[in-house]
Amino acid sequence: ATPAFPPPALAARRSTRQLKVGPVGVGSAHPVSVQSMTTTLTADVNATLQQIAQLTAAGCDIVRVACPSADDAEALPAIAGKSQIPVIADIHFQPKYVFAAIDAGCAAVRVNPGNIRKFDDQVKEIAKAARDRGTPIRIGVNAGSLDARLLKKYGKATPEALAESALWEAGLFAEHGFHDLKISVKHNDPVVMIRAYEILAEQCDYPLHLGVTEAGPAFQGTVKSAVAFGALLRQGIGDTIRVSLSAPPVEEVKVGVQILQSLGLRPRKLEIVSCPSCGRAQVDVYKLAEQVTAALEGMEIPLRVAVMGCVVNGPGEAREADLGVASGNGKGQIFVRGEVVKTVPERLIVETLIEEALRLAEESGAG
Ligand code: SF4
Repeated sequence: ATPAFPPPALAARRSTRQLKVGPVGVGSAHPVSVQSMTTTLTADVNATLQQIAQLTAAGCDIVRVACPSADDAEALPAIAGKSQIPVIADIHFQPKYVFAAIDAGCAAVRVNPGNIRKFDDQVKEIAKAARDRGTPIRIGVNAGSLDARLLKKYGKATPEALAESALWEAGLFAEHGFHDLKISVKHNDPVVMIRAYEILAEQCDYPLHLGVTEAGPAFQGTVKSAVAFGALLRQGIGDTIRVSLSAPPVEEVKVGVQILQSLGLRPRKLEIVSCPSCGRAQVDVYKLAEQVTAALEGMEIPLRVAVMGCVVNGPGEAREADLGVASGNGKGQIFVRGEVVKTVPERLIVETLIEEALRLAEESGAG
């Protein structure tokens, strides 16, 4: 069953303005979405579309592509036109690429008006073009590129400095009556980042895009992002998330999806409840959990599968799950929806679980 949104243990979502990024709603009236960014050369349309397809299959809702050159800008109509999910163009300094992205039908543009103003002040024209076409804009403040004025005022990228910078940037559009904005304030330190978003949440009603920037390689970045997003989403803060990892973007999407599923903010599909193993284990739990995960990944029904190493907690957890195994004495007791359906020798545990999972999928109409 689809869980209630938000799950009862989380605070109600902070009330925000609502945006449409292509068909994907962003804001408190919509589920929290998962984003990532392609690593291909945007000008290479085929490679970029191929990577977007992989991200889509992994559960990505919105994808961002960098647009640092004229060749990249020229590729945007083909990419935006053929991508299965909405495409956001990421632009830093050149207003002409912002107009190109809006014309290309990109679902949104990430651009900081503060940067645009420094070179060629076309913020008013950008606001008009974005409004005419219904294209929202993300303002993205990063600790590494904080405005010199705020660095001087605060001494470093403090939470207050990040929030003030973002609100100042938003004000540059607001003065032209443009409010279709979402905001991010990213820092590599989750503690600073959490506070920056909390301040922002108190001071504006724009939807917030959560991210820990330069979070690091997969393991460290996953932990930092999970800690930071969990702390904010628990409070109802955050409307769309991007996990940044020094790893392929598909991994970012998998982590993002898993974070939302762990909080009950996205319906769970496969969930493996496996024990850490200990001196009592009578089966190789790690191997069994890995084999079961590999065999059942991609199943389209919500499935909670317990893989337990012995009879201490095994039967209890296995009973709570849709499907489970409690091992002992070279055998596995197989549970389906709380009932022991059979006991099989250890070598047949994985294949029996697969059979039973397929049967459950068939019963639910998704087989
Ligand atoms: Fe140890 Fe058994 Fe608990 Fe697994 S279920 S951690 S083997 S006591």
